[in-house]
Amino acid sequence: IGLVPTMGALHRGHLSLIEKAFNENDVVWVSIFINPTQFNNSNDLINYPKNLKNDELLIKKISKSIEIFSPNEFEIYGENPKIKTYDFKTIDNELEGRFRKNHFNGVATIVSKLLNLFKPNNVYFGEKDYQQTQIIKKLISLEKINVNLNICPTVREKNGLALSSRNNFLSYSERNDASIIYKSLILLKNNFNTSNLISTKKEIKNNINKKKNFQLEYLEIADASTLKIQSKINPKNSYRAFICVRVNDIRLIDNILLN
Ligand code: AMP
Repeated sequence: IGLVPTMGALHRGHLSLIEKAFNENDVVWVSIFINPTQFNNSNDLINYPKNLKNDELLIKKISKSIEIFSPNEFEIYGENPKIKTYDFKTIDNELEGRFRKNHFNGVATIVSKLLNLFKPNNVYFGEKDYQQTQIIKKLISLEKINVNLNICPTVREKNGLALSSRNNFLSYSERNDASIIYKSLILLKNNFNTSNLISTKKEIKNNINKKKNFQLEYLEIADASTLKIQSKINPKNSYRAFICVRVNDIRLIDNILLN
């Protein structure tokens, strides 16, 4: 059994996970559920894109045998959604955790429910939400769940922009401008061993904030496993860069392996 948890409004990024699951399992379940407990902003929850009919068509195009689970809130949570609180050590404090209070407890609550419901052999998540993949890894070990965690590469537009359901909210020109997010990560990666990272980060911040309606929320280099933000680099360790850019009220995130 392979499970692909999603919140719907599917795009090629989600479909790449579903295709991989289809190739590697006898039975595949795709869950489509906009999980209220992981939203810390009620407008974000209300406005989250929904398109169940189209999602079903896209999934059935891959194979009619793929099963879809699209429960309502009551089926998952009953009368009042309760969030579980986990001890994720350092992983949930930094980066997204600083800006989205309790987000990762909400993610872990729903993923734990889904894993216990389907008892899959394989579960699939995207590297685009790298911090989330590390939270799930920790959840699996904390709850001693018997499942293989599969982390799948980020699918991008031609211009480098990581596909996201939230890209639907960008205008045509904002979508073009948003290619600066991935370009910035590449610039940081290219300069990782050579030049002054502080000045590269400053240059990136200036260039992003110059774009109309764009604001850099964070650009950090963090240890790839603890996700602790690092200013001093030890070449023996593995690092990733994490970025979040706000376009109007829309938060776009991305990340890259640096070494
Ligand atoms: P979401 O519906 O946003 O919760 O995403 C469902 C799954 O799809 C998560 O594991 C995401 O990391 C993954 N995903 C979202 N965007 C992409 C992308 N551009 N490439 C690969 N995986 C993605």
